[in-house]
Amino acid sequence: MDILLESHLYQDTLKLLNETAEAMRLDPNIHERLKKPKRAIMVSIPVRMDDNSVKVFDGYRVQHSLTLGPCKGGIRYHENVSLSEVAALAMLMTFKCSLAGLPLGGAKGGVKVNASKLSRTEKQRLTRRYTSELSMFIGPDKDIPAPDMGTDAQTMAWIMDTYSQELGHAVPGVVTGKPIEIGGSLGRSTSTGRGVIYTVEKACEHLKIKQDKSVKVIVQGFGEVGASAATCADELGLSVVGVSDVNCGLYNEGGLNINAVKEYYAKNKSLKGYKEAQEISNQDLLTLKCDILVPAAIDGVINSKNANQIKARMIAEGANGPVTHDGHKILVDNGKFIIPDILANAGGVIVSYFEWVQDLQNFFWTEQEINSRLRTIMNNNFKVMIETSLNQKVDTRKAAMIAAVHRVSSAMLLRGLYPQ
Ligand code: NAD
Repeated sequence: MDILLESHLYQDTLKLLNETAEAMRLDPNIHERLKKPKRAIMVSIPVRMDDNSVKVFDGYRVQHSLTLGPCKGGIRYHENVSLSEVAALAMLMTFKCSLAGLPLGGAKGGVKVNASKLSRTEKQRLTRRYTSELSMFIGPDKDIPAPDMGTDAQTMAWIMDTYSQELGHAVPGVVTGKPIEIGGSLGRSTSTGRGVIYTVEKACEHLKIKQDKSVKVIVQGFGEVGASAATCADELGLSVVGVSDVNCGLYNEGGLNINAVKEYYAKNKSLKGYKEAQEISNQDLLTLKCDILVPAAIDGVINSKNANQIKARMIAEGANGPVTHDGHKILVDNGKFIIPDILANAGGVIVSYFEWVQDLQNFFWTEQEINSRLRTIMNNNFKVMIETSLNQKVDTRKAAMIAAVHRVSSAMLLRGLYPQ
C-alpha cells in the first residue's frame, strides 16, 4: 500500500510507531499489523450544486484497528485531505483511544473539499451522499464518526438522519458530536479544548509553574479546539496573549479579552480587523515569546525550519500532528516539554465515548458529571505518560505511545490471529 506513504503525516506517524516498537521491544508480528490500516474505503461523491451542475468529490474512511472495539474518529472536510493523511490520522486515533483506556479502535474520514465554498444545501447534499456511500461500514457497533476540521454538530445531525432514514428508525449512536436535541452530550463541543487545558494544568504542576496571569499562552487556530482551549486557559487565570485563525494572528502582550475576541469572531467569521490587538502572521505567532504554546489548527506547523525559534517552554498539541518528526527532535533537544496529541487532544474522543454510552443507554448525564469524568481520565493518562517517561527514560511522546501500543498489543495477542 505505497499510496499510504504519500503524506508527511503518515511517514512521521510510521516513524513514531517504529521508534516506539524498538523502545518497547514490541512483538514484530504485532508491529507489522499496526503499520497498516485494517480497512480503507474510497468513495466518489456526486453532488448536485446550486447552479444545477454535478460535481464529484473524493471521500475516504480509514479504519485502522477494531481490536479494542468499534472504530472512532472524526470526519474532516478540507481541500488537502488525502487517503494517506486520513490513514495517518486513523492510526493516531487507535493510539489515542488505547491510551485513554477506551473500548474503541481508531478511524478517520475525510472529503477533499473546501467546505467554506459550499452553500449550506450543497454541504448537506455532500454529507448525505458521503454517509450513504459509507452506510454499510459505519454504525454504533462498527465505526462511529465525529466532527473534525470543516465539520460540526450540524454535519453530524445530517449523518445521523441519513443513516437513520436508511434503517427506518433513529440511531443516535452512529455519530458523536451531535446537537443535544438529537442525543448529543453536554460538554462535547468544548471537550477537546478543555482536555488540552486539563493536561496543561497537570504539566504546570509537574514543572512547578505557578498558574496565574504571569503565565503567557498562545493558541493557534480559533475553531472548536482552539477557541475552547483559549477560553479554558483564560478561565484558569492564565494570560492568553495570542490567538489566530486561517486569516491572521492577534497579539496583545498584556493579554487578550477572550470573550470579546469570541464575540468578534462569531459576528465576523474571521479574526481579521479586531482592534484591541496587533495583527501578525500565523508563522510569527508560533515563535513569539510565551510560556505555553497550543497549536490547535493543522498538522506540520512546527517543523525543522522553525522549531529552533520556538520560545515557549511547553507545547500542548491541540491539533493532530502539529509538530513534525524532525521538529520534535529539535524541541526535545532544546528542553521543551511536549504534551503529545494522543494525550493532549483526547478530551474530544473521551466525551464522544461518553456520548456513545449515553445514546446506547438512553440515559443522559449532567455536564458536571461529564467534566469531572473527563478530568479523571485526562489526569490518569498524564500520570501514565509521566511515569512511563521517567521509568523508561524516553521523551513524553514516546512514553504516551509506549503505553498506548502496549494496550493494543496485549489485546491483539489475547485475541490471536484469524484464521490461525
Ligand atoms: P475547526 O475547523 O473547528 O478549526 C480549525 C481552526 O484552524 C480555524 O480557526 C481555522 O481558521 C484555523 N486554520 C485552518 N487552516 C489554518 C492554517 N493553515 N493556519 C492557521 N490556522 C488555520 O477544527 P477543529 O475541530 O478545531 O480541529 C483543529 C485540529 O484539532 C485538527 O488538527 C483536528 O484534527 C484536531 N482535533 C479536533 C478535535 C475535535 O473535537 N474537534 C479533537 C481532536 C483533535
